[in-house]
Amino acid sequence: MEEAKFPEEGKSVRSLNFIEEIIEEDIRNGVNEGRVHTRFPPEPNGYLHIGHAKSICLNFGLGKKYHGKTNLRFDDTNPVKEDVEYVDSIMEDVKWLGFDWEDRLYYASDYFEQLYDYAVILIRKEKAYVCDMTAEEISETRGTPTRPGKESIYRNRSVEENIDLFSRMRAGEFPDGSRVLRAKIDIASPNMHMRDPILYRILHTSHHRTGDQWCIYPMYDFAHGQSDSIERITHSICTLEFEVHRPLYDWFIREIGIYVPRQIEFARLNVTYTVMSKRKLLELVRDGNVTGWDDPRMPTICGLRRRGFTPESIRNFAETIGVAKRDNVIDVSLLEFCVREDLNKRANRLMAVLNPVRVIIDNYPGDLVEEMESVNNPEDESKGRRKIPFSKTLLIEREDFMEDPPNKFFRLAPGREVRLKAAYIIRCESVVKSSETGEITEIHCTYDPLTKSGMPESNRKVKGTLHWVSEKHAVKAEIRLYDRLFTKENPDDGEEGKTYKDYLNPDSLRVITAMIEPAVLSPASLATGSSPEGIFDKYQFERTGYFSVDKESTRQNLVFNRVVPLKDSWSKVEKVNKT
Ligand code: ATP
Ligand code: MG
Repeated sequence: MEEAKFPEEGKSVRSLNFIEEIIEEDIRNGVNEGRVHTRFPPEPNGYLHIGHAKSICLNFGLGKKYHGKTNLRFDDTNPVKEDVEYVDSIMEDVKWLGFDWEDRLYYASDYFEQLYDYAVILIRKEKAYVCDMTAEEISETRGTPTRPGKESIYRNRSVEENIDLFSRMRAGEFPDGSRVLRAKIDIASPNMHMRDPILYRILHTSHHRTGDQWCIYPMYDFAHGQSDSIERITHSICTLEFEVHRPLYDWFIREIGIYVPRQIEFARLNVTYTVMSKRKLLELVRDGNVTGWDDPRMPTICGLRRRGFTPESIRNFAETIGVAKRDNVIDVSLLEFCVREDLNKRANRLMAVLNPVRVIIDNYPGDLVEEMESVNNPEDESKGRRKIPFSKTLLIEREDFMEDPPNKFFRLAPGREVRLKAAYIIRCESVVKSSETGEITEIHCTYDPLTKSGMPESNRKVKGTLHWVSEKHAVKAEIRLYDRLFTKENPDDGEEGKTYKDYLNPDSLRVITAMIEPAVLSPASLATGSSPEGIFDKYQFERTGYFSVDKESTRQNLVFNRVVPLKDSWSKVEKVNKT
């Protein structure tokens, strides 16, 4: 058996998770002749989120690991909520994550005829009947978990009458909501899903694929398991809430008499400081709380992509969290750790000043420009070196200077020395302040020419090294700094009377203007490294974080999204993971 593809090469191989154990046991026992065939079955009623990414990595990962196959199947049984926009985005996201369904793209709607025939089989076996009760009556007579339901008065219709009514439902003779087809199982079953569940409802609504061909549509529960069966899926992996549906799925498969897939449930992924239900994500988009499904604060795959996350980091995250049998919540800083780890290896360094203050080197010639040199990525020599212009007037971060610093402040202050990265050691001589605001407008320094790289004093020890840019060479860029979308770890678990929306973080986006060294514009710098999108457009701005070009907004002016700050001030995840 081949080694799992993820985690990436070089990482220690973990022990099997419980799903792999089940699969390997099945292979050993010759179940399905050792075949492994999984599927990812989204409903196209929204964009995919990080929870789906986990399911995608799991299903496609298993297919790959066991030399099997993985289908992409759209469970498109509800025309009211579904749309091709979602179909397209889902395919794009699965591909971007690095997975390939090859020629196995399916739709539950392709099986509508087959599913209809299955329903007829059940009717003929007296296992299904047409019921004329309204939706309200059906739900009222279904009982409660502690109280059995009441049988429908239509339950004992003859096979002939049921066949006739069902075919007339299909023919469009009845209005929406007037009749349904129900399974005839057990109205008193302790499992509510077994209490004569609805199989078909009348919906005079166009479907994004079948158009007006149908006016009755199968319920998700009647389509899902049978679709797996039709595709001869060996292991139907789904989230925990479907555990209670399993007896129903088994009942359908058994009564219809078709191929039996094995359903395995795992815990859905929850992540702190966000919401993951598609309904809520749609609300955030519709109500304008975010700019769209791909807003970089969204937990959607397209949002993460726009923010600057890489597919590698998301796959690695999915691998790291593993699969559990119990519900759990994952700290979002683990996801951030994964992208930091990936970009550290792959992103070139640049110097960018996010909150500039002017530094004037008094003893540096006014017309001189020197080209300093720096490595593009200390983690990867193959990324080469770049030139950085140095001149008399520079910009540094305002936070890197203090007029009256405490002892532990190792950056610039009156009378103190610091090194400018890849350049000279400078010493602060004086400051100039605005007469109106009192704000510092210029920091005057002197430089020591002997401290440049290759010069005798270049190794002289100073406590701090600062990043900088030459003012007249620097490129202006808009920078979008993101914080958590919600202020509460679990926005769904708020105080009484409050909803998740009450915990939206008003400061989740801050827009600033930064000054970046000119290498940011050079194609050579942009072209180093590669990604599925072609150009690798992500950088580490020295000391401030990882940043990614926002292609949607970059026109004449560069726009960057901050993927993550450099260090995680939120939790200890990094330490935990490094040990
Ligand atoms: P939502 O409840 O947010 O609408 P869903 O489960 O209905 O999501 P589907 O399109 O049906 O969305 O999901 C497709 C697949 O992704 C399913 O197999 C489902 O189990 C899986 N999935 C959805 N959410 C998560 C999650 N948070 N963690 C892991 N897997 C998930
Ligand atoms: Mg679902």
